[in-house]
Amino acid sequence: TPTARNYELERSQISLNEKIGVGQFGDVHIGTYFPKAKKNTKSIIMGNMEMKSSVIQVAVKTCKASNDPQKMEQFLEEAYIMQKFDHPHIIRLIGICSESPIWIVMELARHGELRAYLKANSKKLKRGTLLLYCYQLSTALSYLESKKFVHRDIAARNVLVSSPTCIKLADFGLSRWVSDQSYYHSSMCILPIKWMAPESINFRRFTNASDVWMFGVCAWEILMLGVKPFQGIKNSDIITKLENGERLPLPKDCPPRLYSLMSQCWAHEPSKRPTFQRIKETLYEILVEEKISDSE
Ligand code: ATP
Repeated sequence: TPTARNYELERSQISLNEKIGVGQFGDVHIGTYFPKAKKNTKSIIMGNMEMKSSVIQVAVKTCKASNDPQKMEQFLEEAYIMQKFDHPHIIRLIGICSESPIWIVMELARHGELRAYLKANSKKLKRGTLLLYCYQLSTALSYLESKKFVHRDIAARNVLVSSPTCIKLADFGLSRWVSDQSYYHSSMCILPIKWMAPESINFRRFTNASDVWMFGVCAWEILMLGVKPFQGIKNSDIITKLENGERLPLPKDCPPRLYSLMSQCWAHEPSKRPTFQRIKETLYEILVEEKISDSE
């Protein structure tokens, strides 16, 4: 892929440190990245002396040594997608080592997965912070919507925590451009049914409107401090319940305006759901209202 070229890193620029996660293709490690120093005019005059540049902590996704080119291509797919985005609430691609063992080097989210973070900090997390996370996620999704991009797997398990006041969307393994309709049948073996819109379950239809449905479920997980949706219900029973009009219940402490927004995201008819642009604006207002009532 010609565009991947610019992202090629030398393996010697990265040192692998402790393992922080396990992905579908291999382990994820913390790494130290030594960016190549930019030479300035002065250093050229002084000879070939390089400027010192600071090292960066990164996350490195590795792909188990394999000689299956199709697998390796599938692994790299996520990096190709990530490199197209530039948003403060989307994990950034730093670069790749495209020869085996393939490494995808990304921005590190120091506090790890959102679900685990919500569970571990449930006592001290304020409602305003949970609303902030929902808002930040909606800005990332509004950005993807403007780029005509469908994520397809919006869930708290795919959101990472950079700092206590900053979350980032990750995991573009399932995401596709809207026009690319051929892919999902083969690549989506385990479907996240409990997060999916009815038309995705019934007809495998994925659009920005089905992403909106999933966002509603993800916002619900956030307000529930990491509880998964529809616990104890079988995947095969979900569609019947949704078609009977059943929806996730109001989380304790959730502002009524937010629950009303979630409920709109769960409109059976895709065209009746709000856009992410709209969701972002509404969440901003909810956030401001929360701040006002907080300081009263
Ligand atoms: P799956 O398809 O099962 O979700 P995957 O192959 O997409 O797996 P990820 O979920 O992206 O892999 O990564 C596995 C784990 O590694 C994550 O759940 C998270 O704990 C950790 N991880 C991944 N990327 C980062 C990152 N940028 N910063 C911090 N931790 C990360």
